[in-house]
Amino acid sequence: MASNRKLLVLPGDGIGPEVMNEVRKIVAWMGRKRAVGFDISEDAVGGDALDRHGVPLTDAAMAKALEADAVLFGSVGGPKWDTLPFDKKPERGLLRLRKEMDLFANLRPAKVFDALVDASSLKPEIVKGLDILIIRELTGGVYFGEPRGVSTRPDGQREAIDTQRYSTSEIRRVCAVAFELARKRNNKVCSSEKANVMHTGVLWREEATKLHKESYTDVQLNHMYADALAMQLVRWPAQFDVIVTDNLFGDILSDEASMLTGSLGMLPSASLGAPDATGRRKALYEPIHGSAPDIAGKGIANPLAETLSYAMMLRYSFDLGGEADLVEKAVENVLAAGYRTADLLPMGSDAAKLTAQGLRKVGTQEMGDALVKELDRLV
Ligand code: NAD
Repeated sequence: MASNRKLLVLPGDGIGPEVMNEVRKIVAWMGRKRAVGFDISEDAVGGDALDRHGVPLTDAAMAKALEADAVLFGSVGGPKWDTLPFDKKPERGLLRLRKEMDLFANLRPAKVFDALVDASSLKPEIVKGLDILIIRELTGGVYFGEPRGVSTRPDGQREAIDTQRYSTSEIRRVCAVAFELARKRNNKVCSSEKANVMHTGVLWREEATKLHKESYTDVQLNHMYADALAMQLVRWPAQFDVIVTDNLFGDILSDEASMLTGSLGMLPSASLGAPDATGRRKALYEPIHGSAPDIAGKGIANPLAETLSYAMMLRYSFDLGGEADLVEKAVENVLAAGYRTADLLPMGSDAAKLTAQGLRKVGTQEMGDALVKELDRLV
């Protein structure tokens, strides 16, 4: 279908292409049933691009990504390419995309579906209904700040330095994303740093407060030290709506939050850049999981994280909230109907026991087909 929505699909390696195939079914369904079409192009990334072109991402693919309204990414990496030098590794393809698209805001929702409430490591009453969004600053902070490196001092001791550095604009632009997204959710932002011991934390808190006062007083803002937040996330996670934090704390806290939901196979993410003159942001959507070489090719990967990444794309890049809701509802209903890929089941659960519990073990394709059927039922 002709469309002015440009989408670049990068399936990548391992289970990436397998889960992407299932999302293609939903993309086709959206075109057929909801007149939501895309101008889709596809390219290689990661090990796939290395095998075909000798680089983890070609300049042509990079140019397509910069031109697209959104990039839907699978996963990269695998043992075949593990021994390559660092600058040739499949992951460099993803890092190049993030860097050249200047994707500074990484969005990771942690949502607990009712049917999976027992999969969490926390008690069901603590995580039931949980729906939080962590926004991690992705292109600044201690992972990039200079000076950095390892050197040998005159006294012979080796010494390592990493520098945490943030500027006003880096803090303001990611906090603005948090406030804007909170407006579309429950209107609450918790900004997190360690202003008690770090200068960057002091600046972060001041700038978040200033920006809030200038433009977002309708949103509720509170501040929390990152260590306290780590504790509160497992004590009472439902108190949060949107959390915004720096690169290092965001790395750790978003992994912690993801475990509240149970499985890696369920978790989507989005990375957003700055809006251009028309308000369009560069954006890349991908599941949290990697290429899962241990299960690649077996047809058992869970396609729901990629499906939910596609739903995020509908919502954040194309303002198609109704269609995103529909996809999320289909995921919820399919889980409620008992469909489970292997990662969502306890190890070694036998078929008779599962049937007695109303559960049905399915492969990647069966899960994708069940989603399409459910979408048909929903409309
Ligand atoms: P992984 O996420 O690929 O797998 C971790 C475990 O979770 C494995 O047991 C895997 O089978 C399981 N798993 C992951 N996704 C699943 C899904 N959708 N359905 C069912 N089970 C799933 O992480 P890893 O094993 O540490 O890394 C494997 C490769 O992926 C490495 O080369 C790594 O560098 C790469 N990686 C890539 C990305 C990315 O593309 N963004 C992210 C993380 C890791």
